Amino acid sequence: MTQRSAIADTICRTIELGVTITDAAIDGEDRTHLFCQLLDPKNTCPTCGQAGRLRDHVDREVADLPIVGHPTRLHLSVPRYVCAATDCTTSVFRADISAIVAPRAQVTRRTTTWIMRAMISDKMSVKAVAAAVGLSWNTVNTLALAAVKKLAAAPARLAGVRVLGVDEHKWKHVRGKGDPNFVTVLVDLTPIVDGTGPARLLDMVAGRSKAALKDWLGARDQGFRDRIRVVTMDGFTGYRTATAEALDKARVVMDPFHVVHLAAEKLTLCRQRVQQDTCGHRGRSGDPLYGIRRTLLTRIGLLTDKQKTRLRGGLDAREEHVAVAVTYAIYQELIDAYEQPTKRDSKIAMYKLLKKIKTGVPAGLSELAQLGRSLWSRRAEILAYFDTGASNGPVEAINGRLEHLRGIALGFRNLTHYILRSLIHSGQLAESLRAL
Ligand SMILES: [Zn+2]
Repeated sequence: MTQRSAIADTICRTIELGVTITDAAIDGEDRTHLFCQLLDPKNTCPTCGQAGRLRDHVDREVADLPIVGHPTRLHLSVPRYVCAATDCTTSVFRADISAIVAPRAQVTRRTTTWIMRAMISDKMSVKAVAAAVGLSWNTVNTLALAAVKKLAAAPARLAGVRVLGVDEHKWKHVRGKGDPNFVTVLVDLTPIVDGTGPARLLDMVAGRSKAALKDWLGARDQGFRDRIRVVTMDGFTGYRTATAEALDKARVVMDPFHVVHLAAEKLTLCRQRVQQDTCGHRGRSGDPLYGIRRTLLTRIGLLTDKQKTRLRGGLDAREEHVAVAVTYAIYQELIDAYEQPTKRDSKIAMYKLLKKIKTGVPAGLSELAQLGRSLWSRRAEILAYFDTGASNGPVEAINGRLEHLRGIALGFRNLTHYILRSLIHSGQLAESLRAL
């Protein structure tokens, strides 16, 4: 019969683990060691179910909750049994402690919950948490990422998602040559469409590819995939293909933000080309087109009279500027199509515009012709926006916050840490903590 230390077990809450403290010590590194025995070890053989005979005990050392501000190590004295059943394949087995510590984990389950609460609710850094529990930064980072991924994937959290926003985000700008590092960002837009709340960051995965999205969708359950009605995205075809292959019932929506962005890019290309043709050099201060480069991209309704006059002056300065003027007019018409009083009006205006520029654009307007062809090929997705009302605008807002986070001098050296911080920062995970 184990001698129980009721006072120590109450103070250290070891009672709730089903263990009792038999001894304690403080080491040279400021850690408190608690030596414990299991109160009610099960000696049932996991293979045959018969009772085993006690052979010896093994010490399992794991980190536990800090006690009065010092890191703690729990030493569990785990009984080992011999299975005497003649036809059983198991000869020696340990008492099951998986309710206290997950298999191969370095910390107790309650410590994982404590770490996540400290990071999510109390905004503690990995460094501070690591110091509190007496583990390395890397150990805590890896552990927290696994926990955060589990929280992010909690079925209750994903249950109501019908409108999914997919976007890419550059998390790190690599100096010199080479691709920047992208993550695929998944956002729940359902609350926006329903008018019930803000968008939620659901998850982030490494890479920007068809596989990144398809693998993520594949890892959810069928119920989740069946509930998705709309997926909003930018013009990246990999995401479109992944959606078509993984989801039967979802409509793809190309986001207004990206449609306008595409047109803005073409307008800028046109301005640069005409600039080069007329002045023989890239834009510089004093050049009429260079002077209006920003006003050109601004919605006309937002310009002051002075800006409008300057814009007109720049466009009229030379006859050759007509290509810019025409492309500019279409760009403004595109923005205007989104601003109609009703979605129906918007959809009609957009359809007419897309049809107008899909073919037969006059010579000398190569950028506009390209825009016309590419928007026409995506017309179903562009027009679907007006039926569903789903927009990636909130995704952009979350990306803005992530961009800000990236700017903070936390020095994200690795992607896992970046994903961890992003989910903690924007994932609204506090209510899911019980799922650990
Ligand atoms: Zn057995």
